[in-house]
Amino acid sequence: METLPEKPSENDCCGSGCNPCIFDIYEKLLKTHKSGNISSSSSVKIRYDLLSPLKYKPFILLNIQKENANCNIYTFKPVIVCNDVTNDFNGNEQSNFTTNDTTLKTIVDECINGILPYLPGQHVIMKNVKMVCNRNFENVNTASLSRSYTPVSLAQKEENCVMKLLIKLYDNEKMSSFISQLKLFDIVFFRGPFGDFRHIKNSKYFMICAGTGLAPMYPIIKTILLNEEDESIVRLCFACQTFEDILFREEIRYFSKFWNFKARIYLSRESTNDFNNRIRYEERIHLQKLTNDALQKQLRNERFKILICGSESFNKCMTNYVEKLGYTDIFVF
Ligand SMILES: Cc1cc2nc3c(=O)[nH]c(=O)nc-3n(C[C@H](O)[C@H](O)[C@H](O)COP(=O)(O)OP(=O)(O)OC[C@H]3O[C@@H](n4cnc5c(N)ncnc54)[C@H](O)[C@@H]3O)c2cc1C
Repeated sequence: METLPEKPSENDCCGSGCNPCIFDIYEKLLKTHKSGNISSSSSVKIRYDLLSPLKYKPFILLNIQKENANCNIYTFKPVIVCNDVTNDFNGNEQSNFTTNDTTLKTIVDECINGILPYLPGQHVIMKNVKMVCNRNFENVNTASLSRSYTPVSLAQKEENCVMKLLIKLYDNEKMSSFISQLKLFDIVFFRGPFGDFRHIKNSKYFMICAGTGLAPMYPIIKTILLNEEDESIVRLCFACQTFEDILFREEIRYFSKFWNFKARIYLSRESTNDFNNRIRYEERIHLQKLTNDALQKQLRNERFKILICGSESFNKCMTNYVEKLGYTDIFVF
């Protein structure tokens, strides 16, 4: 049982010549749907009604878990807002919520069936508008803004359509300030998924990432390792500053027990003091920056699809390195 992607109405298009336009996104979504890229058994419903690239949809914040000093894992779950104000709130980033209704009711279903339509490595967009459960919208006195975040959860493995995001909060930056003020049971708005990466079984990946650039790699690795029929090989090079900055450290250590996964972590600002005591079994940690030489050593001229994710400057630098080493099959998130 599947729902088709919701078709946008003429009013959903802002007419400003956006690229991609909301109708392009719809066509792409239909194609993805028809090609079966989001696979589900006949009994599982793909919930395009709860997460759509075309309209912002409400999600309630259920949990905040500290990952390190400035990164948290936020758990969100879709909710239904009775008055469909989300119709006023389409893909046009400039549009704001406009409603005079101060008694907007939300329905928080304990149990939501089906799966959200995002794939490993895809991202969603969050808007800086929040609503307190069963009350009206909070007046956000700042300009409308949105930011991308990559679910670290696997849509097909989560119960009740829960979506988990690993988010780094920057001091005094706009979206970070908005997110840092969120409280449990606040409702925020997402649209998505976006992003062209599609994992193909039995691939050979060399992943290069820094900081929260681990976010798209993590669900791809998990997808591979959880599927015994997928013989993909993964080499991860993860650049961080210090031990405290290593995200999903225990998970990476656990993944390293699998025959087809190896990780190397590069710490650019860690001292050698007490290094041996801080390193854990199965960890390969280097006290150096991730350099061209380090990459060359790990790549050993083997054939890989290269995946890169970090800041803009990190992506440029790493792309440059691997291109110089003769790699052409490169995907930058
Ligand atoms: C496809 C995609 C997926 C993403 N996924 C995640 C995710 O899973 N988790 C996560 O925490 N973040 C993710 N991000 C980043 C996220 O969208 C926000 O940029 C981040 O949350 C900061 O938002 P902000 O408004 O608080 O700060 P911003 O105003 O965006 O600035 C944050 C910091 O980055 C610096 N900065 C801003 N733009 C650039 C640039 N172009 N180059 C270098 N430095 C810059 C600023 O100086 C500042 O220090 C993703 C971004 C993209 C494009």
